Amino acid sequence: MAGTTDRERSVLDAVPTDLYIGGSWRPSTSGDRLDVEDPATGKTIATVADATVEDGTAALDAAVAAQADWAATPPRDRGEILRRAFDLMTERTDDLALLMTLEMGKSLAESRAEIGYAAEFFRWFAEESVRVHGRWSVAPNGATRLLTMKQPVGPCLFITPWNFPTAMGTRKIGPALAAGCTMVVKPASLTPLSMLALAALLEEAGVPAGVVNVITTSNTGEVMEPLIRDPRLRKLSFTGSTEVGRRLVEQSAEQLLRVSMELGGNAPFLVFGDADVDAAVDGAMLAKMRNVGEACTAANRFLVHESQADEFTDRLAERMSALRVGRGTEHGVDVGPLVDSRQRDRVDELVRDAVERGARVVTGGVTVGDTGYFYAPTVLADVPSDARILHEEVFGPVAPITTFSTDEEALAQANDTEFGLVAYVYTRDLQRALAVSEALETGMVGLNVGVVSNPAAPFGGVKHSGFGREGGFEGIDEYLETKYVGIGVD
Ligand code: NAP
Repeated sequence: MAGTTDRERSVLDAVPTDLYIGGSWRPSTSGDRLDVEDPATGKTIATVADATVEDGTAALDAAVAAQADWAATPPRDRGEILRRAFDLMTERTDDLALLMTLEMGKSLAESRAEIGYAAEFFRWFAEESVRVHGRWSVAPNGATRLLTMKQPVGPCLFITPWNFPTAMGTRKIGPALAAGCTMVVKPASLTPLSMLALAALLEEAGVPAGVVNVITTSNTGEVMEPLIRDPRLRKLSFTGSTEVGRRLVEQSAEQLLRVSMELGGNAPFLVFGDADVDAAVDGAMLAKMRNVGEACTAANRFLVHESQADEFTDRLAERMSALRVGRGTEHGVDVGPLVDSRQRDRVDELVRDAVERGARVVTGGVTVGDTGYFYAPTVLADVPSDARILHEEVFGPVAPITTFSTDEEALAQANDTEFGLVAYVYTRDLQRALAVSEALETGMVGLNVGVVSNPAAPFGGVKHSGFGREGGFEGIDEYLETKYVGIGVD
């Protein structure tokens, strides 16, 4: 547990590291623990309980036992608990951000931004909890009346990734609590501390015992599968890779679970000939470098009109090479480490593949330092269409650039992927902007903007990027069933 300052140690020591089940903290039934590493140093900074299959079942037992009372809790009370959770997160941003940086690596500024974004889901769904409506209407033939009501789906399982350790949880927990659902949450084993800290905060905000249960485990598939196949579970929401998501959809078929899938992306970033290049470069920096490129929404491919390509490439390379790489806790650092050696080696492999096929390194293209998992902000030009980096999720600070000459060519390249999460479009031509937005096969479009994530907007993808929406008015529907009552009036 080396390499930490007194302040870092005190933040780490404040986090409960056991399993949170039925309102109590308890060790795993095996007594096993799981190491948590600081990706900037490769050193262990904490250990957490390593849940067994029995622990997983106990967590679902607790969620099932709490379901009826939570569903019957007045919406206003549920909303006020969420609002208190928002206030607590806001007050404690600095500690929560430091904790996140320690286990995940990104800079403190990025972690603070994530805590703010994550907390906003609690505020948004605190407001939505009292706006769940049904309908009353007269049947077309006038013979009966039609009543529809919305009811909570029931106990949920949430499986979340390491790249946004808190926000990917609150996007699910917020609407589920607002709708009246209980849950078991399983954070990524690389970054469990942020979710455990959130569980303690939710308890303090007044979430009753059993409503939110958090388990951490390294036996992930073994512990999750029995829960997904358990007939008492009514909903699975997963954020992570398409590969794992596909497997979970198969498992969920047995109980015909309600399922939401927030999966991988391969976002194109389109710069048309009429675009404002300054704005496009600003947007590119956000779309590429937010979260060190470890975001499902990260711009994965830059498609630039041939008339703008040289200027865009030079300016982007200048901005990328000026970024300071270092431990995320250090003042002035822009780019922290990647989350682990596997992720860093994969980024390097994709860069080398592109270079071997003829791409040109404009800046970066190398690992940085001897300890930790750092990679230099990288710009690749003249990337050939068969380079793997254009077809696979990079999840790192690398911007591969290719060119196009017509709108048709740009759209064909942009849609030439099995993914469909988000696309970014830079143009000043309104007709082109609308036509391109319509033609893109994605769940979201960033039009002259480099970040689309917003708690008030429906976030989600199409094709292999998944289905379901998180945030916005749509977000709570994922946790509600519609019941219809036909009423005779004679
Ligand atoms: P991952 O490997 O799929 O893991 C995600 C979660 O699934 C983790 O909690 C992981 O647990 C768990 N998991 C792994 N194998 C499992 C299994 N057999 N059964 C049940 N759960 C299992 O993805 P990741 O590498 O953490 O995250 C990166 C991916 O997430 C990227 O593809 C990214 O695009 C995607 N993502 C999508 C969105 C979106 O909203 N569309 C947002 C963020 C990230 P362990 O940690 O214990 O393995």
